[in-house]
Amino acid sequence: MKNYLAILGLSIILVGCGSAKPKVDDLAANNPIETSLDLTAVEDDKVPVTINPGRFTAETVTYRLPRVVQGTYSVSDFGKYVDDFKALDYDGNELEVARVDDNTWTITEASKLDKLQYYVNDTFDIETNGGIGGEQPFSPAGTNIEEDNYVLNLHGFIGYFDSLKNNQYALDVTAPATFVRTSALENKGTKSSPDGTSITSSYFAQRYFDITDNPMMYGKLDVEEFMVGDIKIVLSVYSPNGVHTAASQKETVYKMMQAQKDYLGDINSTARYDIYLYLSDGSETAPKGMGALEHHTSTVVVLPESSSKEGLAASIVDVVAHEFFHIVTPLSVHSEDVHYFDYNEPTFSKHLWMYEGVTEYFAQHFQVYEGLIEPNAFYNTIMSKIATSKNLDDAMSFTIMSENILEEPYASQYYNVYMKGALIGMCIDILMRKESDGNRSLLSLMKELSAKYGKEKPFNDDTLIEEITEMSYLSVGAFLKTYVEGDVPINYDEFFDMVGLTMGESEVPTNYIFAGGQNIIFDADQEKGQIFFSPVALKNSFWASQGIQAGDIIKRVNGAELSLQNAQQVVGGMFAWQVGQDITMELERNGETIMIETKLTQATAKSKSLVEDENATDAQKALRAAWLKG
Ligand SMILES: [Zn+2]
Repeated sequence: MKNYLAILGLSIILVGCGSAKPKVDDLAANNPIETSLDLTAVEDDKVPVTINPGRFTAETVTYRLPRVVQGTYSVSDFGKYVDDFKALDYDGNELEVARVDDNTWTITEASKLDKLQYYVNDTFDIETNGGIGGEQPFSPAGTNIEEDNYVLNLHGFIGYFDSLKNNQYALDVTAPATFVRTSALENKGTKSSPDGTSITSSYFAQRYFDITDNPMMYGKLDVEEFMVGDIKIVLSVYSPNGVHTAASQKETVYKMMQAQKDYLGDINSTARYDIYLYLSDGSETAPKGMGALEHHTSTVVVLPESSSKEGLAASIVDVVAHEFFHIVTPLSVHSEDVHYFDYNEPTFSKHLWMYEGVTEYFAQHFQVYEGLIEPNAFYNTIMSKIATSKNLDDAMSFTIMSENILEEPYASQYYNVYMKGALIGMCIDILMRKESDGNRSLLSLMKELSAKYGKEKPFNDDTLIEEITEMSYLSVGAFLKTYVEGDVPINYDEFFDMVGLTMGESEVPTNYIFAGGQNIIFDADQEKGQIFFSPVALKNSFWASQGIQAGDIIKRVNGAELSLQNAQQVVGGMFAWQVGQDITMELERNGETIMIETKLTQATAKSKSLVEDENATDAQKALRAAWLKG
């Protein structure tokens, strides 16, 4: 998972990850659970759901919707969105049901139970914060029920019987015939209604885990399918106002995934990978949690529709690359907590540094390794992760945080898995290269772990660090003990020194408000009620290139008059500006009006940054080359 928040100047990115133990004690255990969703019978924004489990012999059965889903590290409570829950006997009479908690129903005369019926409300509508730090599902794990779009994260609609988690599921989805539908779940065929207005698609899932692992999207979608090597990529885009198309982002996805495949080499075995991209238009009922959630063969992504084409492409690379790399971990390398995931009372692995940190590190590192970006851009990413991690608790044990991630003070430090977690990955990568004369890397270590364990075999959470130490080097073991289990902040300079990097100054990307760091480029005259460019603005390459001068009064931004009263809002809006976007600005200089009408280009400013040390030794340079280029 990756949360991608943009809060005033502080551009932040977060992401998430997580299976079921069998127990056969009932007749119903032998039958597939027949389930259905009818999108043509939506009432009050609610989808009717039917669950037919076959006949139970047990007196009491428990049915649940997930409290927590895999890949997220927060409580979702999908049961909260269920209404009119009914248990019916074979004559259609209602049986007694006890609602134990938000997500749990107990049926006492279970031997008489024919089926369950209920309605599900979507989560996008009620979101206040997109599930970031709140009691709502993170948007990419959420559900949408809208006239022309359905985000079917099936764990939001379909639950499980405690005793039947390993049963097969048959799922029928009925929808208007005009709908485009995409799903990676095995399709067993389709059937038209007699009048031709609706179509029922029948799907099959091996067990409940596959229900949660295979989202679907239905409605007014735009879909592109293409091959990257031997993987079929299916890119489904929902852009409510038709701003973006799958075709316009295809090239970006192709180039990125080709590079990712080259980077991973032989580790990946997926035949098809689905990207479900929902573009939020910011309306009241639109999803607010920007980012994505990983699945074994797909990802659900939520990003703003207002992005420019280039801005959207950059966000896709940032977010989807991360999700795809989850194929390595936790999908192929994970602990028992993940493998036998309990959707109601999950336990959490100690190793978020690996699931999220190493994944995020790969998502950045492959870009420089495969030549998509220059080393300087990679160094800048490292520096910004260090800066952000220093604003979080840098002296908290990562393994303790990870095991207790639903609780404070750990929950609010979760974001650090993408910051310090990635930096932990970087340090181990450098150590692996150093100890092996450049031959082994973090990726080769992860491949060895993947070969040893894989999708079907979990590792022992408590002994992973010892195991990694045995498979690698004492220095890697000591690093993990001290900085990952332990609470000692990492001295990154030590690692930079190994690869001949040092602190210096260089042009670093910035936004349109600052000239590096916290140097704001505006000043205000309270008496005259005017806002003007300060001398700092000339240090911002974009504004300098527009010929602005210190003291130029800013009258209008994109047509909107700028005043002290609305400065917060107008300048705040400028934080979201993206390369490629058209902007206008009206200035006043010595009584004359000056118009700026242009397309935004990348702004840079001279800042303290990580640079290549001119005095680096050949050994340092060789290690740097091995680290960055293999
Ligand atoms: Zn993730």
